[in-house]
Amino acid sequence: MNGLMKHRPHNPSRLASCAILAISVSTLLVADDPITLQRERMVTDQIESRGVRNQDVLQVMRSTPRHLFIPTNLRSMAYEDHPVPIGHGATISQPYIVAFMTELLAPAKKHRILEIGTGSGYQAAILGQLAAEVYTIEIVPELASSAARTLRDLGYSNITVRQGDGFKGWPERAPFDGIILTAAPPEVPSALISQLAENGRLVAPIGSTWMQELIVIEKKGDGTISRRSVCPVKFVPMRQADK
Ligand code: SAH
Repeated sequence: MNGLMKHRPHNPSRLASCAILAISVSTLLVADDPITLQRERMVTDQIESRGVRNQDVLQVMRSTPRHLFIPTNLRSMAYEDHPVPIGHGATISQPYIVAFMTELLAPAKKHRILEIGTGSGYQAAILGQLAAEVYTIEIVPELASSAARTLRDLGYSNITVRQGDGFKGWPERAPFDGIILTAAPPEVPSALISQLAENGRLVAPIGSTWMQELIVIEKKGDGTISRRSVCPVKFVPMRQADK
C-alpha cells in the first residue's frame, strides 16, 4: 500500500496531523519528564534564540537540575526567564545570563576558574562541568554553607566553596584561567586582575548599584590588559566585608 500512497495528491490535513504526531514523538524522545521538558524549552526559547551557540554550554544548561539550587517554595519558577530570590538579598541569575557569561568566559577542560558570589551554587555547577577546578567565594555564611551542601549532594566534586570576601580573591589558588563575578563592584578589584593567569579572561558586571556594564578583561601573554564592554546588566552589588 505504501506505493499507492506516494501517488496520491497531498492531503493538507493529513500533513498537519503528521507534523503534530512528529512533534509529540520527538518531545517524548527528548523529555520523558516535565522538568526535563522545561529545561529543554529554557535552552531553546531563552538561550539559543538569543544567540548563545557554544554547544558545551548549551549541553550543561540542558542537563543541570537548576530547580535543586532554588528554595523549595520557589522551585516552580526555576526555569522561567528571570532571576529568582534565594534569600539574604541574593538571586540566582536569569538562565540566559548564566549561559551568556559562561560563553564569554569560555572555560576549557584544563582550566582553573574563580567565581565571586557563589549564591545558590548553580553558576559554579555549570562551570564545574566545563573546567578542571572551580573555586567560589560567598560572603554570606548561610549561602556559602547551603551552596556547598547542594553541590556536594549533587556530586560536583571539583568545586570548592569558601565563605569570605571576594574583593581579595583566592591568592592561595591563583593564577586562574577564568574569573567570573556574579555580584557587581564599582570597579574591577585589582587583586582579581593580579590573580588572572596569562591569557586568562575575567567576566564581570561593573558599575553602580543601579547601572552596570558587563565587561570582559583579557590578560595577554606579555601581561597587558584589554577591556571591552558587552552590554548593560543588573546584578546585586558586591558587598564590602565588615571591617
Ligand atoms: N552565582 C550565583 C548568583 C549570585 S548572586 C548563583 O549561581 O546562584 C550574588 C552573590 O554575591 C550573593 O550571594 C552575594 O551574597 C554575593 N556577594 C556579594 N558581595 C560579595 C563579596 N564581597 N564577596 C563574595 N560574595 C559576595
